Amino acid sequence: MTNRPVHVREGLLAPDSRPDQRVALRASRCGTCGLVAFPKRETCEACAATTAEIALSTRATLSAHTEVIHPPPDSKVPVPYGVGLATFPEGIAILGLLADELRHAARIGIAVETFAYEAFPGHLTYGFRIAD
Ligand SMILES: [Zn+2]
Repeated sequence: MTNRPVHVREGLLAPDSRPDQRVALRASRCGTCGLVAFPKRETCEACAATTAEIALSTRATLSAHTEVIHPPPDSKVPVPYGVGLATFPEGIAILGLLADELRHAARIGIAVETFAYEAFPGHLTYGFRIAD
């Protein structure tokens, strides 16, 4: 019996990811047109060709950010929390939760890294934090 946290959504991170560990998000790239998708897809949403799984870079650039102070319906993440859009070298921008330290220091253009975020007790997703 382990107390390993449950993934909020399967397939975004490696199954054995540990809270606070730097992680590469699991995406897909189209073999024909090169479109990158996250979460990964079996077929390309642009051209319907077969895709291959790729691991995104762990570093990205913060493109936009905001703070959530009123919880959306059924939200389990305690407010306030930060949300940001990170642009990856692979050519995709992904929305994610911000670590508290990044929420307080967020600026467009800073380097962020992806990590396994225990956003509420026992539940793991990905988040962005200030890159080393
Ligand atoms: Zn395609």
